Amino acid sequence: MHESTNPRYRDSHQSEQGRGQAQTGLGPVPVFFGSIKMKRMREEDSLPFKTLKALEYAGLSQVVAGKRVAVKVHLGEGTNFATPHPGMVRLVINKIKQAGGQPFVMHSWGALNGYERGYTAETLGCPVIPTGGSQERYAYVHPTGDPHLREVKVAGEIEDAEALVVISHVKGHGSTGMGGALKNIGIGMLAAESRGAIHQLIATVPYWNADRCHSAQPCRSCFDACPVDAPHWSGANKDELHIDVHACTYCGRCEEVCPTQALHLDGPAMFGAFQHGMALAAREVLRTFSPDHILFVNLILHVTPWCDCSPFTQPAFLRDVGVLVSRDPVAIDAATLDLLAKEEVLVDMVPDSFKVGGKLVGSGHPFQQVLGTVKNPYRQVEEAARLGVGRRQYELYDVETISPEQAAQWRAITPPSAVGAPAQAH
Ligand code: SF4
Ligand code: SF4
Repeated sequence: MHESTNPRYRDSHQSEQGRGQAQTGLGPVPVFFGSIKMKRMREEDSLPFKTLKALEYAGLSQVVAGKRVAVKVHLGEGTNFATPHPGMVRLVINKIKQAGGQPFVMHSWGALNGYERGYTAETLGCPVIPTGGSQERYAYVHPTGDPHLREVKVAGEIEDAEALVVISHVKGHGSTGMGGALKNIGIGMLAAESRGAIHQLIATVPYWNADRCHSAQPCRSCFDACPVDAPHWSGANKDELHIDVHACTYCGRCEEVCPTQALHLDGPAMFGAFQHGMALAAREVLRTFSPDHILFVNLILHVTPWCDCSPFTQPAFLRDVGVLVSRDPVAIDAATLDLLAKEEVLVDMVPDSFKVGGKLVGSGHPFQQVLGTVKNPYRQVEEAARLGVGRRQYELYDVETISPEQAAQWRAITPPSAVGAPAQAH
């Protein structure tokens, strides 16, 4: 590990003022949409065809031409087969090659066993490599200036690439509400140590009073009350109460039953700490690329409650929506959330552990209904926009209703977001 000497990273700091000015007066970011719905049974009405159109309209060729292109995909774990279909990934790879780019698919250590789920050099048509080497020891250190997360380590092979195409399977996530483009960057492109550090940020918000709890031993009231088995003992002596916040829905039952008021979960603060860390990390990752050479693809298909780190396949609990392509990670995730906000949760497809008395645990956005009201998935979008990772304002263009000329016009008048703009006070 070493301090970043990547010239693009230095440039991004040097040109912060210019980038900030460049944002002034910019209109909404174009987000190109291909619906899963088919008007007729013909190829041009199918999702792969619309995906190719959306890539073209978003300017993929300009993003990747002549570049070594990191194509970041979460390749799943174990028997999780809900990740992007290898055929869809290959579609993007072929398009990159046609445009004169040199692609390679990347994931963290899971890249080493991606073949178990159908991801190989043969199926994808390009190399599949781990982002930080087989031992995850290859990374660049980026200071953040944040007191709780002083540095992030950006995976070496990501930072070494010249262009970035991020393909994200949209799904729920226990620590962010939704896993989309921002999660794929702000967690998925870091060294393991930094991924862990961001998860640990939640612990900076205390929720357990050891003195009060230990005075009540032996007691398991909070364990018995929790519907998702989130509390457990940890530490060297197994006497420190730890709550698995990924599973926790912040329902408050444990606090209610605790005889000594030893528990107090400030859900919004705990959840918010993670979003802040993830947005900071996303900013540092994207600062290593020119804004002209990044592009995002969100596949809103087979939307599951938890992320693709789960080593098993989960049921989809929302209808498929389609594909989004944009040059801005904030805009694409905001558009994704807005599209899914219109969908009804398929309650019978939601595992019972997300229900109490047969009803969903939360209210609000479909992700909140399943994962808990506190886990507002818009928090990550707001935090990322606040830190200058991208712009939240977007315009959705259905690829079936616009022409290539119109798409080119919109691209020209709304250049890519000034990703990596200076952080605002927080
Ligand atoms: S808040 Fe609810 S889900 Fe979280 S640990 Fe307590 S009882 Fe379990
Ligand atoms: S219910 Fe309260 S006292 Fe009992 S184990 Fe949980 S935190 Fe400790």
